[in-house]
Amino acid sequence: MPKIARAFARTRNQFNLWMELMTAIDNCPEVVPCTNFPDLFFPESANGHALKDIREAQRMCSSCPIQLKCAIYGLEAEESDGVWGGLSLYDRKKLKKRYGSIRKASEALKIRYRQFTEDGIQADKR
Ligand code: SF4
Repeated sequence: MPKIARAFARTRNQFNLWMELMTAIDNCPEVVPCTNFPDLFFPESANGHALKDIREAQRMCSSCPIQLKCAIYGLEAEESDGVWGGLSLYDRKKLKKRYGSIRKASEALKIRYRQFTEDGIQADKR
């Protein structure tokens, strides 16, 4: 596939993922936690005092009903900033490296999340 076609396909995929996430947020029965604390989710750095903000954002994501969809968005759209679905940029990079590609990392994330919810720990998030 020519480079320009690949870039277009990637942009279109990111747009579709973004629209899916926005629809999920709109349809969410409760206000998603990040709405009220945007600064926590987009700290200026990934160390020092900002680490505390990242951990707090991740804690909030763990109770969000659309956590998986959000994490998949952050991963597949290759967001270069912020906490998405409980994953920081460092977490997303680590997943991509561990699984060799974004697609494989995304699949692994879905399987892991399914196993997690099937254990009944977060069954309300399905
Ligand atoms: S998972 Fe986290 S970042 Fe995503 S919508 Fe929910 S609270 Fe916001």
